Amino acid sequence: MPDSIPVRTRFAPSPTGSLHIGGLRTALFNWLFARHHHGQFILRIEDTDQKRYDPNALQTLIEALRWAGVDWDEGPDIGGPFAPYVQSERLDLYQQWANWLVEHGKAYRSYETAEELEQMRKGQEQRKEQPGYNRAHRSLTPEQRAAYEAEGRAYVVRFAMPLEGQTTVRDLVQGEVTFDNAVQQDMVLLKSDGFPTYHLAHVIDDHLMEISHVMRAAEWLPSLPLHVQLWQAFGWKMPEYAHLPVMLNPNGKGKMSKRNPPKDARGNVIPVLVHDYMNAGYLPEAMDNFLTNIGWNFGDEREVFSMAEAIERFDTDRINAANSAFPPEKLDWLNGVYIRDMDDVELARRLRQPLEAAGFEVNVDTLLRVVPIVKTRIKTLNDVVSMAGFFFRETFLPAAPEQIIQKKMDAASTVQTLQAAVAVLAGIDEADFVTQTLYDAVQPLTETLGISNGQLFGALRVAVTGQTVSTPTFESMEIIGKDETLRRLKQATALVSAKL
Ligand code: GLU
Repeated sequence: MPDSIPVRTRFAPSPTGSLHIGGLRTALFNWLFARHHHGQFILRIEDTDQKRYDPNALQTLIEALRWAGVDWDEGPDIGGPFAPYVQSERLDLYQQWANWLVEHGKAYRSYETAEELEQMRKGQEQRKEQPGYNRAHRSLTPEQRAAYEAEGRAYVVRFAMPLEGQTTVRDLVQGEVTFDNAVQQDMVLLKSDGFPTYHLAHVIDDHLMEISHVMRAAEWLPSLPLHVQLWQAFGWKMPEYAHLPVMLNPNGKGKMSKRNPPKDARGNVIPVLVHDYMNAGYLPEAMDNFLTNIGWNFGDEREVFSMAEAIERFDTDRINAANSAFPPEKLDWLNGVYIRDMDDVELARRLRQPLEAAGFEVNVDTLLRVVPIVKTRIKTLNDVVSMAGFFFRETFLPAAPEQIIQKKMDAASTVQTLQAAVAVLAGIDEADFVTQTLYDAVQPLTETLGISNGQLFGALRVAVTGQTVSTPTFESMEIIGKDETLRRLKQATALVSAKL
């Protein structure tokens, strides 16, 4: 049943670089909320800060959202009834409404030059006063204003913030918040280059685009009194606000940031950009689940859930107001859970990409046989490359003899082991060359040779895979096949014999 007031949320990133995981979480929350309420989710590009504009950002942003499975009903790429959805294409609107505010005495033109503002700032510093605009041009006489205009001076439009009273809002997450108006500034709404600031642009757009709920990072909370006053100045119905808890570094201190990225216990940098996780072989299902757990909970202490399940339950009542730390180990754990639970054919489809990116030509039959033995062992999709890429090599690269020789063994005992294994394996029919049969035939050699399972299986595994880290011994032999397994074992025997 559709809700009585149509729910419309938006994700409104500024295209200043690749999408931050905190941004993806904001997008997910808005999207989940809209989908839960059978509403619409809008993508709007807030590119009014020309200095920080990055022309590649929009493309990477769309890629990242699509990867995460977040879809939008209106946006710059698909249009919609309130187009355009890119703020730099809406400048006329902001200018018209800024003028409207000026004409109605809610805002004013401020003509100070950069030097004058700098002087003002220095004076405040010397007198140890609060920094900020001194409101000098809020009360210009018509003559003074006319003089500045005649001079052709550039101006900004500032909001005339009420000088007394309080601004109170019921935030859906933070509860009731109250601000003293007297300590607020007369913020710039329109810059001298004709571009609006975020404050002006988002209020106008949220109004015109009929946004019902604004869910955004709690960093915007200090600006909320200005925004509320702006809504009132326009006389428009304000959307509901929900300020989302900040995503903190894993140690709980400070916000996750690109400039000062957090490190894990081993000193490795923990990425903060969605693309870094995409490139590292994380699954979007795991990332979505992980981010949705930061600041929201599914209930019933359930940590693993799909986005379809989250949509059924998502509402603002279980968004936690307290900031929450980013637990990287949870992401790795979830990624493993999703990999293990994935259908083999689907997992094969996903593993193909990192293998091909590493330069392997992927044989699908081989890949489908590799999937069951890697799926419990890899943490990320990319792990398949180092663990099982060798299956797709055109020519086998044998390991160094030192790698084949196991702990507490030497060249002589290793040669003996490899030869004994060759003798046993040669006697197995090609049709029976399967894991369990191989194990049953080879394992008893531990007794004859007086070595452990670890030593026996280790030597054979490194000999047939060419790697110290790889898929397990007998499963690998089965995939490699009888002839090639024997050839590799003999080659290894020769290599180790040279060390005798
Ligand atoms: N462009 C703003 C930002 O990227 C949007 C904040 C909002 O959602 O209103 O922080």
